[in-house]
Amino acid sequence: RRAVLARLRHTPAVTRDGEQVELLANIEMPGDAAAALQAGAAGIGLFRSEFLFMNRDGQLPSEDEQYEAYRTAVEAMHGLPVTIRTVDVGADKALDRMSTNELRHEHVLNPALGLRAIRWSLSEPAMFRAQLRAILRAAAHGPVKLLIPMLAHLSEVRRTLEALARARQQLAEAGRAFGAVEVGAMIEVPAAALVLPAFLRHFDFVSIGTNDLIQYTLAIDRADDSVAHLYDPWHPAVLRLIAQSIEQARSVGRSVSVCGEMAGDPSFTELLLGMGLRSFSMHPSQVVAVKERLLATDTREWARRVESILSAESPERACQAAATLMAAEA
Ligand code: PEP
Ligand code: MG
Repeated sequence: RRAVLARLRHTPAVTRDGEQVELLANIEMPGDAAAALQAGAAGIGLFRSEFLFMNRDGQLPSEDEQYEAYRTAVEAMHGLPVTIRTVDVGADKALDRMSTNELRHEHVLNPALGLRAIRWSLSEPAMFRAQLRAILRAAAHGPVKLLIPMLAHLSEVRRTLEALARARQQLAEAGRAFGAVEVGAMIEVPAAALVLPAFLRHFDFVSIGTNDLIQYTLAIDRADDSVAHLYDPWHPAVLRLIAQSIEQARSVGRSVSVCGEMAGDPSFTELLLGMGLRSFSMHPSQVVAVKERLLATDTREWARRVESILSAESPERACQAAATLMAAEA
């Protein structure tokens, strides 16, 4: 079995009916790029940059330190794309003892609904521009995509793009080398999924963060064990938001990826392919298992089955409907 999986690493990710699929890796540190390559990933779909900011006793990483880290990942991937997400601190990824706004995190009642991710970045404009400059400079060394977490408002989109324009201008004025980046939005707040067409006008691509999309759709704190049994990716409300987002992005020719845990869980591979998804980003350890599933999937057949799963009345029924269809195929 292990030998079979090892061989799959080098097999092209093409479905039974000939659809090309992009399998990407999620990483937390530049050193994880080796595992991504080892797994046969076609690039990095999510570099969670906040790990550069955590466990450092309150000191933020400087622009140069970040640039070195991003460049290391870009060079390690040898020309494959690296999607760098701007810092997503707060909630389950609290910084330790920060000097500025971060102090407030210790006192907020509801960090998942508080000053996290892009909200924090926009509240710290100098820090945010430094990160954007570091990412733009790394883009001089290979293909880089910039990904923005937790957007919910178009005003946040506008302020983010202004910060990016300002960062480019600062680099140009300083005569520093930097590269072009595609810019994408994470869709992980239901509000963003529900106004997606407006978001799509401002971005080159979107990436659906199902971990948070589930949390915010079902009002279940990801970090709270007492309600963990209600955190269910099979909830039809969650599945419909995902299906609708994929369809809307594709209908205007934007690439769309899923980078939450669902992308790396083979029980969702057929369903996501049936919804039209062709780009998955996951922990490197999951790449081969998802590839094994997709090689055996007929996407046209699954596209016809999606509606019966989405119209289930409960998570249990949706899961059962998918399982029955998979079993019938096996
Ligand atoms: C997500 O929310 O699905 C996601 C990929 O981001 P994170 O898990 O880092 O919040
Ligand atoms: Mg998230």
